[in-house]
Amino acid sequence: MIDLAISGGRVLDPACALDVVGDVLIDAGRIVGVAARGTGPQARATVDATGLWVTPGLIDMHVHLREPGGEHKETIASGVAAALAGGFTAVAAMANTSPVNDSVEVTRWIRARADEVGLARVLPVAAVTKGLAGEELTDFAALRQAGAVAFSDDGVPVVDGELMRRALVAAREIGAPVIAHAEDPELTAGGVMHAGPVAERLGLRGIAAAAEERMIARDCALALASGGRLHVAHVSTAAGIEHVRRARAARADVSGEAAPHHFTLDEEAVARHGALAKMNPPLRTREDVVALRAALADGTIEVIASDHAPHHADEKARGMQEAPFGIVGLETTVGLTLACVHAGALSAQAAVRALTLGPARVLGIAAGQLARGANADVSLLDPDMRWTVDPATFRSRSRNTPFAGAELRGRAIGVCLGGRLMGDLNGRVRQ
Ligand SMILES: [Zn+2]
Repeated sequence: MIDLAISGGRVLDPACALDVVGDVLIDAGRIVGVAARGTGPQARATVDATGLWVTPGLIDMHVHLREPGGEHKETIASGVAAALAGGFTAVAAMANTSPVNDSVEVTRWIRARADEVGLARVLPVAAVTKGLAGEELTDFAALRQAGAVAFSDDGVPVVDGELMRRALVAAREIGAPVIAHAEDPELTAGGVMHAGPVAERLGLRGIAAAAEERMIARDCALALASGGRLHVAHVSTAAGIEHVRRARAARADVSGEAAPHHFTLDEEAVARHGALAKMNPPLRTREDVVALRAALADGTIEVIASDHAPHHADEKARGMQEAPFGIVGLETTVGLTLACVHAGALSAQAAVRALTLGPARVLGIAAGQLARGANADVSLLDPDMRWTVDPATFRSRSRNTPFAGAELRGRAIGVCLGGRLMGDLNGRVRQ
């Protein structure tokens, strides 16, 4: 007798290229195995997963939970509730909180708070530099010991190249990645959207694609020279992708990430949605959108991450010039990713991989697969459910999204977190 069988779904596990209709067997919070339908041992509870995708627990490695310090935008509790609603069992929390997560105390506090809430695993990302000031490295070894999985000043770039090189060396020594927010501030000052014809038409100051390309090129060169592990957050340009592609071909330890808004929308969305389509890096051109989809399909970009960036409605109402950058994404990522699958731009395996094994590999964590003995973190997705994005129903404390009213096909309906079933599984569970 085992605790749980998730039965009859399409089991997708990119770690072993598994794509089969079968049962995921779970006992004592761990994966027992995957069996042909009905051939496993008796289970105390069964989830009827007919018609669903059953995948390793989804991981969003780029999330801003805002707590401590930004509780009017999001808290750890509301953020992990949004993660659960979006189908994620783990999220990596960026360090640009207040105070900044540049200390063992803050890292430990985030973990403890997340444990109390218990709706998803929270993996703290610690700052590269103290106070995100770009001057002095944090204590990587101590932060790692306290539970930080990666290092990033995300929100701002590490402008000083020598400091970035030293960060890559220090992180290499403890086997952790440095996550780069690639932006050359010399080229972005005052910009609020992609520099191009739409910005000109709207009379808005642009952010050149070159600002991203230049910084990705620098960081890839530093990764190659130092042997450090570099993860480029939210790659948004075709030229940025090419730098990542070349660095990987040269055997640099470089990975890249794409956000759903960047592979879905282009700069024209700013004309329609105003500040709700303001993010950094900005929405780019149609060609960049196509290049991102192709890079996800061929594995050059191995991670899909939301860059979930909650902001209060009053802050986003300040207009294009004054509103802060960023949109929420935890509750729309699965639907927007599946839109690529339905459009034939991405295989089911590639989509699931970019949300599971990809981020697990980059972070160096034992997750993202349905291997025997692994934590029983499993996501259940209905690939065909049609739904309309209604920000009023978000579990996130913030509503800042350009996707309100979007009609999507595909949604997470529940997860199993360490053997515990959560989410909207009514009628599918048999005890
Ligand atoms: Zn960023």
